Amino acid sequence: MSFVDIKANLQRIEKRVAEAAYRSGRHPDDVTLVAVSKTVYIPEIKDTINCGILDFGENRVQDLIRKIKCIPQARWHMIGRLQSNKVKDIVGKVVLIHSLDRWKLAETINSRGQHLGITVPTLLQVNISGEVQKTGVDPSDVESYLDSIGQLRSIKVCGFMTMAPQSEDPEQARPVFRQLFELREKLKGRRFTNVELKYLSMGMSRDFEVAIEEGANIVRIGSAIFSNA
Ligand SMILES: *Cc1c(COP(=O)(O)O)cnc(C)c1O
Repeated sequence: MSFVDIKANLQRIEKRVAEAAYRSGRHPDDVTLVAVSKTVYIPEIKDTINCGILDFGENRVQDLIRKIKCIPQARWHMIGRLQSNKVKDIVGKVVLIHSLDRWKLAETINSRGQHLGITVPTLLQVNISGEVQKTGVDPSDVESYLDSIGQLRSIKVCGFMTMAPQSEDPEQARPVFRQLFELREKLKGRRFTNVELKYLSMGMSRDFEVAIEEGANIVRIGSAIFSNA
């Protein structure tokens, strides 16, 4: 196993995040870096916190629960597909669920929020690329989802999340990110209840600069931090 210099990786990434933010006419503080810690253990997460990172993303509920117990002071994000029967384990413990991808899940999250007396912040995951293996709401259904979310009083949609198709060339992802941005622009001015389209969670290790250039204000970065390039 080779040693990974998390601090050096983060410094390089934060510089690239900042430069991409300036290129898109924004301040680097506008972009939140979520460190995707799904491949690493507690010591690496603590090292990352010592470098000033507070936000961490996990895609499996079991790992999330275990890591939250060890490191409750971090801000935890659920970024992976969420089964309805696991909702009760994470609602109230994560700052944001990025993967709201179906109506049934919205209802389950809402019930749990109601039970706890809280409003649960979520992002609607949108399947821009149309790849069948990707989950997410079809872009043409997003508006009706947002209309309906108002019926559910204990859940809030705070923006959108998407995943671009896997590709060596980050430019391949640009049209996907641009379409999500445009969808948000189109719907931002409409009146919905329990909806505030503040966040665009898009961009991973390979394509985060393109995502920021296209308006991402949350990027989810794993391997670029926790493995050697
Ligand atoms: C793993 C994962 C990431 C991070 O991917 P990297 O390529 O390692 O940066 C981002 N988002 C989701 C939903 C993931 O599952």
